[in-house]
Amino acid sequence: MSQEPQHQAFCAGDHLASEVLVVAIDGPAGSGKSTVAKRLAQRLGLEYLDTGAMYRSVAFAVMARVIDLVDAEAVVEVAKNSVIDIQDSTVTVDGVDATTQIRGPEVTRSVSTVAAIPGVRDVLRVRQRAWVIERGGGVLEGRDIGTAVFPEAQLKVYLSASSQVRAARRAGEVSALDYETVAADLAARDAADTTRQHDPLTQAPDALHLDTTDISIEEVVETLVARLS
Ligand code: C5P
Repeated sequence: MSQEPQHQAFCAGDHLASEVLVVAIDGPAGSGKSTVAKRLAQRLGLEYLDTGAMYRSVAFAVMARVIDLVDAEAVVEVAKNSVIDIQDSTVTVDGVDATTQIRGPEVTRSVSTVAAIPGVRDVLRVRQRAWVIERGGGVLEGRDIGTAVFPEAQLKVYLSASSQVRAARRAGEVSALDYETVAADLAARDAADTTRQHDPLTQAPDALHLDTTDISIEEVVETLVARLS
């Protein structure tokens, strides 16, 4: 995905045709969203978009340009002007390979602050909708896909898991950090993401809720494929 800056407003003109299949997967970090979204997309022959990587990319660009995170206006300008390119697992921001750094502790600790700025959300929501319209569908995962980005998605899923299991999954992915550090970072991000004023992480009323604490990714994917058939 190459995302050139786009400044157009989120408007009625970008409505989806009814045959466009969009699957919206939301939930907190470590709930299994990325793995489920990737595998489901493969099964459905659709592309997959990790919207968290977009928020992380903006946070990365803000830090790279040495901009103060609390300067909301300047952060929104960065969101508007940054070129984010996500190809499989490689993420390039303004021509710089940011694949590793967007997952690092500095970006992880600042991303929720960036994501709480309404102007940043507006810019990324427009890009996320454009991404789907260009491809004629897709599987998107994030925090507000079913509630704010694609409230019209055919299938909305909310994944959760116990905080211990989520922290253990994340600690397993990031070998440089111990369980306690990862658990504390997750708790802080959960609090910020669920309590922010704009598009907080919440389950859409019509979303299918699956608790992945004790069920496998395969079971989740099979359940979702069955829902769509
Ligand atoms: O999914 P991931 O953990 O990489 O997301 C990083 C952060 O990006 C989240 O903690 C949240 O603050 C923000 N985010 C968001 N809305 C999305 C996706 C991610 O606010 N749709």
